Amino acid sequence: MLTSDSRAIGRVVRPADADWDDARGTFNLLVDQRPELIAFPADERAVAAAIAHAQALGLRVAAQATGHNPGPLGSLEGTMIVNTSALAGVAIDADARSVRVGAATKWERVTPRLSALGLAALHGSSPDVGIVGYSLGGGLGWLARKHGLQAGTVTAIELVTAEGHLVRADADHEPELFWALRGGGGNFGVVTAIEFSVVPVRELYAGALFFPLERTAEVLHAWSELLPALPEEMTSWANVIRFPPFPEIPAEVRGRAFAIVMAAFLGREADGRELLAPLRRLGPQLDTFAPQPPEALAELAMDPPDPLPYTTAHALVDALPPTAVDALARIAAERETLTLVQLRHLGGALARPAPGAGARATLPGEICLFGLGLVAEPDAKAAVVADLDALSAAVAPHRVGDYPSFVEEPADASAFFDPATWARLRRVKSLYDPRDVFKGNHHVPPAERP
Ligand SMILES: Cc1cc2nc3c(=O)[nH]c(=O)nc-3n(C[C@H](O)[C@H](O)[C@H](O)COP(=O)(O)OP(=O)(O)OC[C@H]3O[C@@H](n4cnc5c(N)ncnc54)[C@H](O)[C@@H]3O)c2cc1C
Repeated sequence: MLTSDSRAIGRVVRPADADWDDARGTFNLLVDQRPELIAFPADERAVAAAIAHAQALGLRVAAQATGHNPGPLGSLEGTMIVNTSALAGVAIDADARSVRVGAATKWERVTPRLSALGLAALHGSSPDVGIVGYSLGGGLGWLARKHGLQAGTVTAIELVTAEGHLVRADADHEPELFWALRGGGGNFGVVTAIEFSVVPVRELYAGALFFPLERTAEVLHAWSELLPALPEEMTSWANVIRFPPFPEIPAEVRGRAFAIVMAAFLGREADGRELLAPLRRLGPQLDTFAPQPPEALAELAMDPPDPLPYTTAHALVDALPPTAVDALARIAAERETLTLVQLRHLGGALARPAPGAGARATLPGEICLFGLGLVAEPDAKAAVVADLDALSAAVAPHRVGDYPSFVEEPADASAFFDPATWARLRRVKSLYDPRDVFKGNHHVPPAERP
């Protein structure tokens, strides 16, 4: 029975409260999110109380953990945020190679512990990202070409529905909901816990080759020409990074720009070295490759740990012919507003749907482009957007889709799925949230009634 009692929620922060600005802050300082109120439930009953209270007030509910992708939510007028950062808990079963975490958990709480056991999860570039949000969106990380998306490792999800029921979704219980959650995001309820499998890592050779910015074209050409020869055990990303002049950034890169190829190779050092020889022959000015424990992958991409003001661009592309590489290299090297231009090698397991996979089973394309520009002053945004648009235009003829978790603006989510998957997602939404209480960060509406 759904009853509304705000006292049962626990901590609730409202606009007049002293901690309001702190509570509504996100990882992207450019996003000024203004929900009606923010609940911080500490257990499943409190989550149910928050959902009931929102509906009693005529509000929608948006679940949020770390605020790493608040942009797609758009206006939060008429919306309560259910912030899951108090739903703690980590349990690792090394023998079963499985992990269960509460919805508050960031990757940084899990990866070092797994590493000590010779295990790795399919986390992405930042240890600060929330496991639930990452997994519900797909999850594209360092071992992706060998092991696919993180969503494919998820074995069970517990969530509180619009009716206030705590539901466990797995292959045997609520299978349609289980399918939809693995890619359909936060549209079906507030997830309280998630379970997933992890992989053994016996040998890992990983690191980065740094080149001067002026050599960007040479590096990007050499990298893109190398890709067809790389086995699935190798996942590599080519980047142009302008490290901001912030004191917390290591002195040797602070305030400087580089073309950088990073990679994780599941195998022996000698084999990894041989595969990367064409890049090393270019003569990098810094080479950090070495046999590493899996936890080294958490910092390999050098993602920023603290919130920043930024805007982004993204595309999945099926090929990078030399003309596109030239255009990308020119834009990345010349446009100083572009803090990061990143090309991730896809394919391998990312292109193969696994039996029993969820709504986001694969990603189309060979390359994932992601661009990010810091926006120090609001007035500077137009120039950054123009440079990001130039980046997108350079790959437009080869664009085959988007990875929703890298789309950081409100968007029509139907474009992210094939028609059959989209229709199925909307049917599941109708079954579990027919009144559209939950606002995921790419919205799936209920199916229209016939
Ligand atoms: C610096 C940085 C690095 C990143 N690197 C990668 C990467 O390498 N690979 C990759 O795939 N992605 C990456 N991402 C994208 C990231 O996976 C998504 O932004 C993800 O949604 C973040 O989840 P979160 O919980 O941390 O963020 P939040 O903004 O808190 O949540 C994002 C969305 O997830 C859903 N959600 C979160 N928690 C719950 C819950 N308990 N119940 C229901 N829904 C919930 C909601 O729809 C919410 O709007 C990165 C993002 C950033 C900012």
